[in-house]
Amino acid sequence: PSPASDTDTVLVRLIPYGNDQRLLIARDVSEQKRLEATRRDFVANASHELRTPLTVLRGYLEMMEEEAAGDGPLAEWRSPVTEMGEQARRMNSIIESLLKLARLEAEGLQQRQERIDVPAMIDDLADDIRRADDERHDITLHLDREVGLFGRPNELESIFSNLLANAVRYTPDGGPIAVHWWQDDQGAHFSVHDAGAGIEAQHIPRLTERFYRVDAGRKASDGGTGLGLAIVKHCLEHHEGELDIDSTPGEGSTFTCHFPLQRRLLQRAA
Ligand code: ADP
Repeated sequence: PSPASDTDTVLVRLIPYGNDQRLLIARDVSEQKRLEATRRDFVANASHELRTPLTVLRGYLEMMEEEAAGDGPLAEWRSPVTEMGEQARRMNSIIESLLKLARLEAEGLQQRQERIDVPAMIDDLADDIRRADDERHDITLHLDREVGLFGRPNELESIFSNLLANAVRYTPDGGPIAVHWWQDDQGAHFSVHDAGAGIEAQHIPRLTERFYRVDAGRKASDGGTGLGLAIVKHCLEHHEGELDIDSTPGEGSTFTCHFPLQRRLLQRAA
């Protein structure tokens, strides 16, 4: 077999097995793991170091934006100053998402787990999103109030809020968005259905990669970073969950998270 990378050591031996022989193949992946850890640390450190200078820039830019909004000498610079402010906010959300991913990888499974009232959590998140969206979308919730989960609250919030934010971001104003939370004999399930742009089939397997965006040239002001679904995937993995994406271009998309039975909690019994 060929090594997975130049640095892998592969051991191949023919070993006797009764009257037969068996082939033993062993691959040393410690080098691969070391490289992966170096990459993780680099991303975490670089994001952390970029945070402080960016905070300073954002502070001054906010002051300039306020100035430029008035009739003073900065008024003629209003458009570039606003654009700079937007780009700085975008850079900030990319850095925050990168730090969040780095934390998720570093913390692994150490974060505290608890009983979570999922319908209450979804109610709150939907309220936040409706407010941030100025009620431009019709978000309806269909939640089985009896079902909760055992898990990590911050991670579950990230899963639900990223999927809801995407539905809003990629659905034209006025479009309906339906959220479901239900149980069956397989476990508990969360889905967000939107009547938005939809996604062509060839993109679907790559959506959870870091920085993968279907329309890479999309304008910065839509608030996307290309990291949301990578975060969702990570958080779901920490809960033995799976993500299903079903989409028809021009009609809309449904993102469904499946949580295994052992995580489901019946709240009435609690
Ligand atoms: P972003 O911050 O760009 O939304 P994500 O990782 O959350 O990054 O999503 C990756 C890409 O998947 C998006 O850029 C978009 O092209 C596509 N996508 C995600 N959710 C939807 C949706 N509900 N409808 C259409 N496209 C979507």
